[in-house]
Amino acid sequence: MKHLYYDAAIAGCGVAGLYTALHLPSDKKILLLSKGSLDTCDSMLAQGGICVLRDDDDYDSYFEDTMRAGHYENRRESVDIMIRGSRAVIDHLLRLGVRFAKNPDGSLLYTKEGAHSRPRICFHEDVTGKEITTVLLRTVQALPNVTIMEYTTMTDILEENGQCTGMIAETADGEVLQIHSKDTIFATGGIGGLYKHSTNYPILTGDGCRIAEKHGVALEHMDYVQIHPTSFYSEEPGRQFLISESARGEGAILLNHKGERFTNELEPRDVVSAAIEKEMKKEHVDHEFLSFENVPRETILEHFPHIREFCLEHGYDILKEPIPIVPAQHYFMGGIHVDSNSATTMPHLYAVGETSCNGVHGRNRLASNSLLESLVFAKRVAQHIAGEGSANIQS
Ligand SMILES: Cc1cc2nc3c(=O)[nH]c(=O)nc-3n(C[C@H](O)[C@H](O)[C@H](O)COP(=O)(O)OP(=O)(O)OC[C@H]3O[C@@H](n4cnc5c(N)ncnc54)[C@H](O)[C@@H]3O)c2cc1C
Repeated sequence: MKHLYYDAAIAGCGVAGLYTALHLPSDKKILLLSKGSLDTCDSMLAQGGICVLRDDDDYDSYFEDTMRAGHYENRRESVDIMIRGSRAVIDHLLRLGVRFAKNPDGSLLYTKEGAHSRPRICFHEDVTGKEITTVLLRTVQALPNVTIMEYTTMTDILEENGQCTGMIAETADGEVLQIHSKDTIFATGGIGGLYKHSTNYPILTGDGCRIAEKHGVALEHMDYVQIHPTSFYSEEPGRQFLISESARGEGAILLNHKGERFTNELEPRDVVSAAIEKEMKKEHVDHEFLSFENVPRETILEHFPHIREFCLEHGYDILKEPIPIVPAQHYFMGGIHVDSNSATTMPHLYAVGETSCNGVHGRNRLASNSLLESLVFAKRVAQHIAGEGSANIQS
């Protein structure tokens, strides 16, 4: 067994892990682990976009939309932190080189998704997550104080006197590592790999939650699992391709096998998913349809090029015909219980991103709040750990 020594060890290279590393002090030795390849994380898959507080006038309405989608079970303090932290995160991403869609005058162009009462989502075509994560990855890879180990899986934590003192990990060739660190951060993402039909990468199997539970670290709302209304229906095994909610935000409608609408497409995700399930049962079918007939051609070509390309490869042209869709497991609102600094109930163990539960999403996540939540709370955990230390990147 090999022993390694770091100031901070982070399991996970999605936006949560990367943004934490970026904000930790530049004089700290930091290790990042990725279970698979660096691009095998859900952050790379995010399509629709990332929310932002457009202006102070939108605060109440954004807060209410988040609470309403979450069935008012959200932790209000976390919602407030996320919304108030949003502008600084978007400005920072722009400075790092993330390309968001803009108006001709250079201002940000906002799109809308289900359950948002006004457009407030920044996006890059229909591959926003890839754009953000690629830029963050490039920035972190350039930091001399950060080491990234790919294909290395955290299998347990090190615990001494009730405190976390690091983690145990296994490399692809079976070498076992004891990683000693002052602080340990779980950024291990969601749980979709545990489901037969999910939009998530299959390697995301809730490892952080499992390890936390083993050590008596508190978990929260483990049954709060979001089913996305529209994944592309296919009989092929493996990950289900997502049809972004912004398609419905831009006017796409749901149709049954008789070509009739059967629900309000802009209700929160759980409501729309339940309506589709009900219609499928009524019709004794295993999918329904999404039609882009009301979405302007230019919007389809400019905003949804990758969705169109995927559908074309599978025999459907969204410019001409409805596509088959089915609800699929998509997101995990529950997870490792954390406070507003992302501290778990075990000293020196933190959790950020989808594996954590700071209560921001309540019982059901509002579209495009996940990337934002991950980034806002990643920055906070780093600042909390750093105290007054000077960050890798000023934001
Ligand atoms: C298809 C799709 C579309 C989405 N669209 C949007 C959107 O438009 N807007 C939005 O806000 N959200 C969206 N989401 C949700 C959002 O992408 C995720 O919630 C968010 O990216 C989670 O980030 P993360 O850093 O917590 O996890 P991830 O990005 O999933 O990263 C998890 C990391 O943990 C690593 N890992 C896991 N287990 C271990 C282990 N045992 N040891 C070491 N490493 C481990 C993985 O290798 C990976 O690097 C979407 C999700 C999907 C699946």
